[in-house]
Amino acid sequence: MPPHADKQLMEQTDGVSRTCPHCGSQKRLPTGRSPKSPYLENKTYDIVRCTGCGLLLTEPKPTNEELHDIYEHESYYSTSEAIRGTRDQKSWYADARRLLREKAVRASYARPGIHPSLFDRFIGRVLRGRFGWAPTPLEGNRLLDVGSGDGAFLLDAQKAGWDVVGLDVSSLAARNARSLGLKVLVGEIHNADLDPGSFDVVRLWSVLEHSTQPDVMLRRVHELLAPGGWAIIQVPNATSLAARVSGDRWPAWDTPIHLTHFTKKTLAAMADDAGLVPNGIYSTSVGTFAGVLGLTTNIPGRALIFVADQIIDMMNMGDCIMLFARKSPAG
Ligand SMILES: [Zn+2]
Repeated sequence: MPPHADKQLMEQTDGVSRTCPHCGSQKRLPTGRSPKSPYLENKTYDIVRCTGCGLLLTEPKPTNEELHDIYEHESYYSTSEAIRGTRDQKSWYADARRLLREKAVRASYARPGIHPSLFDRFIGRVLRGRFGWAPTPLEGNRLLDVGSGDGAFLLDAQKAGWDVVGLDVSSLAARNARSLGLKVLVGEIHNADLDPGSFDVVRLWSVLEHSTQPDVMLRRVHELLAPGGWAIIQVPNATSLAARVSGDRWPAWDTPIHLTHFTKKTLAAMADDAGLVPNGIYSTSVGTFAGVLGLTTNIPGRALIFVADQIIDMMNMGDCIMLFARKSPAG
């Protein structure tokens, strides 16, 4: 997943315990979780809970040098789909993945004038947890994807009828996205050169957990949205079945680049405080539970994983939380 670290804000809190970005409390309790970093050898971090509002935080906060080294390393991006696709252009598997993704986004985000086929809509339903879907009612077609990474989603959303703009802190990722003909700014949302009220949808997919101050990001999203506009927010679900079962081994602790961890309650509360009224919250699984258990990834295995994910989502304990939150139509 692409990075969305807010370097300027990080510098204010480097290496020390953080004031809770949501409620301002400095009191926290251990959760008993101390996952190892997948990036930094022999480093473990504690997951602590703010006693004021329940938000989960990674401590100690990594140094700027550590984060910089992780984000600027090409291997962090090399698994991204478009880059991998460019490298494996002859791979039928990569082509099939690209095609399925395009069909899923076309169906789930179709704007007026776009008419997905029945097959596209089926694919969209099967894969909706991977990319999300457009909220309703929805007017306008200006979409900002924060943390747009390689631009794969932007490209597909453009084909689904959206006027798209991307934003990413990585110049490497932005360069790849621009090579696809997309408009992508490099920078952070709080100081990006974007006009207030200029978007109908702002999408933050796997973004908020990378920030030390997700509340600041959400307030800026509110500012950038037109009256009645929507934020589409997806983050890992810290109370998912996968997180509960796998403990410290849960891949989405992903320390130290995941600095804030959410539950449905804390995500909805933070959005609400930023002026974005929660209007639909969903559990969307992406196969993490199966991965944690080391289940097979052959076709029957994948079918089983898909069915299991649907059931886990119905129990509201899926891998990720997806929140629709709306700016008041009155502005
Ligand atoms: Zn708090």
